Amino acid sequence: MLEGKTALVTGSTSGIGLGIAKSLARQGAKLVLNGFGDAEAARAEVAALGVEVVHHGADMSRPDEIAQMMAFAAERFGRVDVLVNNAGIQHVSPIEHFDPARWDAVIAINLSSAFHTMRLAIPAMRQANWGRIINIASAHGLVASPDKGAYVAAKHGLVGLTKTVALETATTGVTCNAICPGWVLTPLVQKQIDARAEKEGLSPEQARRELLEEKQPSLEFTTPEELGELAVFLCSKAANNVRGVAWNVDGGWVAR
Ligand code: NAD
Repeated sequence: MLEGKTALVTGSTSGIGLGIAKSLARQGAKLVLNGFGDAEAARAEVAALGVEVVHHGADMSRPDEIAQMMAFAAERFGRVDVLVNNAGIQHVSPIEHFDPARWDAVIAINLSSAFHTMRLAIPAMRQANWGRIINIASAHGLVASPDKGAYVAAKHGLVGLTKTVALETATTGVTCNAICPGWVLTPLVQKQIDARAEKEGLSPEQARRELLEEKQPSLEFTTPEELGELAVFLCSKAANNVRGVAWNVDGGWVAR
């Protein structure tokens, strides 16, 4: 379905981003990966699906590096047709102890980076009259939890920005939507499970169970593969008129 198209997924060296990159590659898209850690391992996993794939190590907290990454993608593959804004970090602390530098980092990586990639990708999408922008927000883009002020603010902001861009592009072939996952068992969540286990003296299994019981009625983690398949749907013709949604995949988290 995506042969001849190029997808850029930020934060795609692990977790959800890598899962989405692989789903898009299975549809034939060329891939630009981004993120820290073992980039070569991620690149090899995607390349094994038979598509061209490159990696750019831009730091999503740096507008200048984001611009370099977008220029690199355009130079390498012509333009970005599918943009997935996925890079994200978490920081957990009550507001009165929240380190201002962590606040800035969470807002920059989880929200402002999407502003920069979108402003740079949209002109070529408009020109081609086709484009898909998928912003990975969170259940925390729809409801709050204590101690996650920066993350909740960034994700609510990302949902709002998604709706604005959807309206600005509404009469074009460019769509912009958000996906709002609940718990997905990735390194980002594993850190929170480990912290809970340590704080409450629980086994890793107990901590994982408690985490799910507290928020996710299905008691099952959402998987990167499930999110990848939703991203594929949003790229399909059937989704031509799906615009500005914030689609939760959260085991019922925001239903109660
Ligand atoms: P992860 O930690 O497994 O992956 C995060 C990715 O972002 C990695 O590739 C990492 O290298 C990259 N990254 C981090 N900081 C970066 C920076 N400054 N510049 C470039 N890349 C950077 O996390 P994940 O759980 O896969 O999260 C992916 C997205 O999904 C995030 O936006 C997160 O908020 C969102 N999300 C995750 C969950 C969950 O339960 N895991 C739930 C809802 C939303």
